[in-house]
Amino acid sequence: MNVLVINCGSSSLKFQLINSETEGVLAKGLCERIGIDGVLTYTPAGEEKEKSNLAMPTHTEAIQFVIDALTNEKTGVVKSLDEIGAVGHRVVHGGEAFTKSVVITEEVIKAIEDNNDLAPLHNPANIIGIRACETLMPKTPMVAVFDTAFHQTMPAKAYMYGLPYEYYEKYGVRRYGFHGTSHSFVSKRVAELVGKPVDQIKTIVCHLGNGASVSAVEYGKSVDTSMGLTPLEGLVMGTRSGDIDPAILEYIGRKEGLDLEGCISMLNKKSGVFGLSGNLSSDFRDLDDAAASGNDKAKTAVDVFCYRVAKYIGSYVAAMNGVDVIAFTAGIGENDAHVRKTVMGYLGYLGVNLDAVANDSHGEEVTISTPDSKVKVMVVPTNEELAICRDTVALIK
Ligand code: ADP
Repeated sequence: MNVLVINCGSSSLKFQLINSETEGVLAKGLCERIGIDGVLTYTPAGEEKEKSNLAMPTHTEAIQFVIDALTNEKTGVVKSLDEIGAVGHRVVHGGEAFTKSVVITEEVIKAIEDNNDLAPLHNPANIIGIRACETLMPKTPMVAVFDTAFHQTMPAKAYMYGLPYEYYEKYGVRRYGFHGTSHSFVSKRVAELVGKPVDQIKTIVCHLGNGASVSAVEYGKSVDTSMGLTPLEGLVMGTRSGDIDPAILEYIGRKEGLDLEGCISMLNKKSGVFGLSGNLSSDFRDLDDAAASGNDKAKTAVDVFCYRVAKYIGSYVAAMNGVDVIAFTAGIGENDAHVRKTVMGYLGYLGVNLDAVANDSHGEEVTISTPDSKVKVMVVPTNEELAICRDTVALIK
């Protein structure tokens, strides 16, 4: 069956059409500037990328153009909509209502809407994508795959904040965690690669992309993760601050004349390695280059990033009373040998030994610890779209 995987943002929409039997990507692409003007980038497998300016006042037109591209006589990859068996939607916040992926019904959409307050930028966009597909492909079954669901196994001691209990009861203020699809995919793949059942190993997954999070996966279940109520908590990220002293909000707010909204925007968009590097870049390729040519702020930014990752790994070794495998994934985790080496440099006490040659490889599944290393360290590329495709097929079969 062919599954259309959709990741809908407020003004963008990423898609992949995946053949679930071969797990091959038939075509992929991106709609951008929805509601402004509209640009479709479409890449059929093995072919050149094509870019077209198309009027996309809403997500419905965007999805119509995606369908048109996929079924186009010349560059399409299927003959008609009938060859798309299901749609899998990435949904950011499932709150406590969703512990796994679900077939989308009217009740499910309502329950996603109930979580809008928790993810005001993401969930409404996800619902718009779902509604648009419903309009254009009313007979095609759809599945929602949540970023938060995998972390719903966290125990209360990991998800409760040290805040008045009533805020949890009244408003659902607790840690939820994100990137769950990736943490789940990578931890399962780690188990396959080391040849052990997933319920017999302890894995720490470092998902290091523009957004970044670490998770502790004990015997197949997420028992802790670094993001919280929102994706702002935890690691220092591309432009997000991660953990800070909450009193900084009041202090900076007063000094700079920023209201709460302004402070949160600063923490989300102007902080992280971008802010630390003096607004040089949020991209590690730029930061590594600048650091290598003597830019001190860029070097500090990368150092702060790596140190925070190492501290989280240490805390998750404590949380699980041990670890068998540490896995690096996502843009930085899969590609940045310097970051991996620096993080591993803090882990000597665990008996971690780096294989410097293996660590120099890029974007492939590889073990980067030496055979005598007490903890195995691996690079395992993530594939959230494939994970969404697999969940979708499993649920509608
Ligand atoms: P997201 O999905 O959160 O946007 P990705 O997982 O795609 O992020 O990661 C993007 C980031 O990965 C880039 O901002 C960059 O910092 C980093 N990255 C990508 N390729 C490389 C590379 N070859 N070397 C170092 N860092 C890289």
